[in-house]
Amino acid sequence: MNAFDVAIGLLAGLVLSALIAWGGYAKHSLSRSGMLGAILVGTTIFGFGGWTWGLVLIAFFISSSWLSRYKWREKEHLAEKFAKTGHRDLGQTLANGGWAAILALFNFFYPSPALFALFLGAMASVNADTWATELGVLSKSPPRSIANGKIVPVGTSGGITLLGSGERRLTFIGLVALLFDLLNSLVFQVNRSGPAFLIVVISLAGGLAGAMFDSLLGARAQGIYYCPRCDKETERRTHSCGQATTQVRGWRRLDNDGVNFLSSMVGSLTAYLLWRWWM
Ligand SMILES: [Zn+2]
Repeated sequence: MNAFDVAIGLLAGLVLSALIAWGGYAKHSLSRSGMLGAILVGTTIFGFGGWTWGLVLIAFFISSSWLSRYKWREKEHLAEKFAKTGHRDLGQTLANGGWAAILALFNFFYPSPALFALFLGAMASVNADTWATELGVLSKSPPRSIANGKIVPVGTSGGITLLGSGERRLTFIGLVALLFDLLNSLVFQVNRSGPAFLIVVISLAGGLAGAMFDSLLGARAQGIYYCPRCDKETERRTHSCGQATTQVRGWRRLDNDGVNFLSSMVGSLTAYLLWRWWM
């Protein structure tokens, strides 16, 4: 990429991500700071990753924004269990897209198809996590802890349900990536990142690995707090009632955003290793 391409990409990325972020804000799936995070991540990925990267990001963002609004009322009563729901803030958008944005920067300085494999794994992982969380809380059957198999209350970190771990949903991001990768190679005559099926397979594997790591870390390591006033466990350091909570287990430094960021790295590496093994 030359300087002109990057300038055009950054400008297009800025305009597109500003439009999408504004839409997300208007539909209450992004907070004001979340809008800033989405623009930062979107512009970086578009400008330095290129069109294929940008379009994969858009497909991810639209699908997860739509899901956070889906059956919102049924999820409302779970809001206090989760640290944050509905409106995604700056921390959440950076936790979800930060690693992918770093990969895009690397792609600018050291362009390589391997980076697209890493990017797909990161996106699939974040996608799988968001989709699983948003759909999982609506499950009719109670979730079970990934750590010990015991039934846990709906909305508990590390709790998985059949509805929340569907592989079919993971295929979506793989197919979209494949479509745009093909389109990109046809239109712009650039080298494809690998055979069509490989793109889908590494996205699936990255998504599954990231989502499972996310559940494990959520169940075993994430900081969990207790509100003495309400006699309830929560992910928040200050409970929704205003009471300061005390830590009961997990690492104080590891919150849900940290878990998401680490999981996107794990999904990313999984996709890369598989890609490397095949190519
Ligand atoms: Zn409380």
